[in-house]
Amino acid sequence: MTFQYDVIVIGGGHAGCEAAHAAARMGARTCLITMDMNKIGQMSCNPAVGGIAKGQIVREIDALGGKMGEVTDACSIQFRMLNRSKGPAMWSPRSQADRGKFIWAWRKVLENTPNLSIWQDTVQKFIFADNISESGASYSKNKKEENASPEENSSVPRGTIAGVETKMGVRFEAKAVVLTAGTFLNGLMHIGRTMIKGGRVGEEASYGLTEQLKEFGFVTDRMKTGTPVRLDGRTIDFSLAERQDGDADFHHFSYLPEEDELKLSGENGKLPQLPCWTIQTNEQVHEILRRGLPDSTLYNGQIQSIGPRYCPSIETKIVTFADKDHHLLFLEPEGTDTQEYYLNGFSSSLPIDIQLEALHQIPALRNAVAYRPGYAIEYDFFDPTQLRHTLETKLCRGLFFAGQVNGTTGYEEAAGQGLLAGINAALQVQGKEPFTLSRDEAYIGVLVDDLVTKGVDEPYRMFTSRAEYRILLRQDDADMRLTEKGYLLGLADEHRYRLLLEKKNWIEKILSFCNEFHVKLSFNPVLESLGSTPLKEGTRLVALVNRPELNVLLLSEYIPELRELLEAIPNRREEIIEAAEIRIKYAGYIEREKIVAEKIARLENIRLRPDFDYNSLQQLTIEARQKLSRIRPVTVGQASRIPGVSPADVNILLLLLGR
Ligand SMILES: Cc1cc2nc3c(=O)[nH]c(=O)nc-3n(C[C@H](O)[C@H](O)[C@H](O)COP(=O)(O)OP(=O)(O)OC[C@H]3O[C@@H](n4cnc5c(N)ncnc54)[C@H](O)[C@@H]3O)c2cc1C
Repeated sequence: MTFQYDVIVIGGGHAGCEAAHAAARMGARTCLITMDMNKIGQMSCNPAVGGIAKGQIVREIDALGGKMGEVTDACSIQFRMLNRSKGPAMWSPRSQADRGKFIWAWRKVLENTPNLSIWQDTVQKFIFADNISESGASYSKNKKEENASPEENSSVPRGTIAGVETKMGVRFEAKAVVLTAGTFLNGLMHIGRTMIKGGRVGEEASYGLTEQLKEFGFVTDRMKTGTPVRLDGRTIDFSLAERQDGDADFHHFSYLPEEDELKLSGENGKLPQLPCWTIQTNEQVHEILRRGLPDSTLYNGQIQSIGPRYCPSIETKIVTFADKDHHLLFLEPEGTDTQEYYLNGFSSSLPIDIQLEALHQIPALRNAVAYRPGYAIEYDFFDPTQLRHTLETKLCRGLFFAGQVNGTTGYEEAAGQGLLAGINAALQVQGKEPFTLSRDEAYIGVLVDDLVTKGVDEPYRMFTSRAEYRILLRQDDADMRLTEKGYLLGLADEHRYRLLLEKKNWIEKILSFCNEFHVKLSFNPVLESLGSTPLKEGTRLVALVNRPELNVLLLSEYIPELRELLEAIPNRREEIIEAAEIRIKYAGYIEREKIVAEKIARLENIRLRPDFDYNSLQQLTIEARQKLSRIRPVTVGQASRIPGVSPADVNILLLLLGR
């Protein structure tokens, strides 16, 4: 049996869902092949989306016309805007999501996307176009002989993808293939000394693909991640835990107004909001965990690969922070129709008895019964410096990688990559120019540039500190940065684009009003009543909005013209007012970052030829020559970010390019 498509996406995780939806929306005939349709968009670890810097990525995905934001809003059981006490560059949305409903929301999206088919099966083999025996092996060997040093020619493709073959013996022919196999490639799970082959608990691993790509010439390695125990809520004593409720304001992930949101059921489609709970470990817990260390896969040599530094297991925490007598844990509900709780912060691959004995030392969990233990998993990933900024592999034309297979961790990082890979797969088959995002345009741009330029030596997760232009990449303005791009790509629809224009228009109206409206000394009694310093002379309203204790909404209560203007905003009023206010209060910072970004952009505009012979530049350090030859930066800007390429090396490049 043979099927023909434009784009094949392997894997229905967070990367695969976005990739498949984007490619199909853009008009490419797309097939998503995934092992289990009932696990589409499965959250392998915590039932939550967003968080610091990750939340900004979800807003960007939504702004471009991706679906993670809408799916999350539809399944949200608690929303919080993290870091509200800090500046708006740090505000990060986060949502607890109903794990089961998240899957069905994704299915609803994908099953209703034109041009998109879904096929439940396991991909076992790639088909390459111009090779001899349909295996990359023979092709790559021939090519390798031609290329004395593959490293030197890492940007020259050795072949072209033509499709895939599945376990059921079906052949899918396509001009572009996006691999998003997550933690499934040769996945091996660990619970104490017990090892189980699989991609996730209860699911088979994926074999053959890594080996075939290795033969083709791809560099691959192993990483590890872990997950905590899940508990039966009926056996938790919540009276001994601290309750944490969500926000009750207008914020959510999608830029679409509430009435346009994806609805799963009911009138308004909103799920009941649930609290999370916090508890602490104690010395007794740590004592038992220490006793289990000889059986810890992390400390007895059973696991060799590197795990996520910022999501350490509980056993790593008690070893690394040996002087700490407690660690904070969160009990997070898994959904509205289940008793299951996720014990955030207690990720572990210790033997089951040790995990349970330890957690029983926490008063609220004295009688807790587990549904599933924590475990660790090792899997294959591919060195992401083998990718272009489009996420197409340099070695194989038409083959794209996205998500955990690129050495990242996290649903949001995966989804952002999936979206970009799906967009570029569609553009490529349609013979159109590729689409990339720069570091001053989006966190997704930072993520991809970091991956393809610096590579990874541990699972990569996004942080605000990775972005040099944080104040430009805020969660409130991802639509202003990206929706037009999404619209021009054919991904964001007309309705979304019109909403953007409407929002821009209203923000400009508010800004103009604040800049033009003159406040007289007669306003002083109001200022005094609001605890704000009285004016010595008249001023423009914008000066008052800039005061920390004042804001647009508050001032509108005393300025009827402003109130009238705000009341005329037809929808998303609070969101628009907040966005305008951020533009006023942070205007200085925003301007400064824009100037720096423009200066740096000059380096980004100086392009480097992909076949440039860096070894001929004796003035460069040996390390710089090797790194430049391997990464093959597209611009001088990218070259300057490669670890091992010093500012002196960049100056030499600029000097020679000048000549
Ligand atoms: C145990 C565990 C713990 C984790 N802990 C954390 C954590 O603490 N923090 C964090 O940020 N992230 C964590 N993650 C990672 C998080 O789940 C991933 O970052 C995210 O799911 C990656 O998305 P993805 O789309 O790349 O892959 P996945 O979500 O893994 O999806 C891969 C999909 O590909 C399918 N697939 C694989 N191979 C094939 C094939 N050959 N043919 C067809 N379909 C295939 C699978 O069925 C699956 O649907 C954890 C993951 C696991 C498994």
